[in-house]
Amino acid sequence: MPLLQVKNLEVSFALRNGSVKALQDINFSVERGDRIGIVGESGAGKSVLGFSILNLISRPGSITNGEVLFEGRNLANLPAEELRNIRGNRISMIFQDPMMTLNPVLTIGTQMIECLKAHRQITDENARKIAIQKLQQVYIPSPETRLDQYPHELSGGMRQRIVIAISLLMDPEIIIADEPTTALDVTIQAEIMELILELCERNDVALIMITHDLGVISQITKQLFVMYAGRIIEQGPTKEIINDAQHPYTQGLINALPQMTVRGERLQQIRGSMPSLNDSLTGCAFNPRCDHAEDICTETLPSYTASGGCKVACHLVEKMKNQEVLS
Ligand code: SF4
Repeated sequence: MPLLQVKNLEVSFALRNGSVKALQDINFSVERGDRIGIVGESGAGKSVLGFSILNLISRPGSITNGEVLFEGRNLANLPAEELRNIRGNRISMIFQDPMMTLNPVLTIGTQMIECLKAHRQITDENARKIAIQKLQQVYIPSPETRLDQYPHELSGGMRQRIVIAISLLMDPEIIIADEPTTALDVTIQAEIMELILELCERNDVALIMITHDLGVISQITKQLFVMYAGRIIEQGPTKEIINDAQHPYTQGLINALPQMTVRGERLQQIRGSMPSLNDSLTGCAFNPRCDHAEDICTETLPSYTASGGCKVACHLVEKMKNQEVLS
């Protein structure tokens, strides 16, 4: 049995006159020690997916179909007490902005000790020892001193290290990292990413990395899920997708990477923008932006086609492959 299995997940948001689907038909599983990447532009549904794994979707949103099975138990309908035991304890989340996670009026030590005491029967003294160990693991210098400081006394990179240390407090089996470096200085983004990877590898923790940055994700994940308008449109081994993307949207994302652009030339962009949840689209949601679209693309939602080790939601994937062979 996989450690985590997401099956036919659908998340909807209620509106005054109906509802809109923010996620649909999401399926994947995570084993211990896996490195999973979820990539897509803003509005693709990546963060909604991260939150819905932990059943943290707040009203007017809700899980309207499917299951999120953790060791076989469905987190989508688990009693609040059992769910609390899994959140933070067995599955942790690292958010984009450390200041959103840390309480500005409490010292780092108080926050870490409170977190430990909320999940375990433990004395203040032992909780403090564990907090110091975790700060050492994330290479915080003088951890004893840092415990008595407030978040605003630390740099952005240091704060994100503290958040990573907090995510490790309960020795979780899965860490969901939602754009963990976006709010940080470019100079320390790589450092934080390497740290997350190192800690997951050392502790055999599965990592679900959510980001818009295909360049980052291609270096650290083994399996890749590309999202567009609330659906996974391409999935498979990261290397295979990066070397030979099949879906026109994934191809566009790869071509837009700065390293794919010849010096002195303009960056290649995908024309248009992601549809909003309120747009009523039929067929493939990517069709207004796709250079290959045919009539069927505006009429029918594409189902998945197996292609190599990947699955691709595109009507024309076979046709485009045959054209490639002939050209
Ligand atoms: Fe483009 Fe059609 Fe494939 Fe959608 S289904 S990606 S519109 S070719």
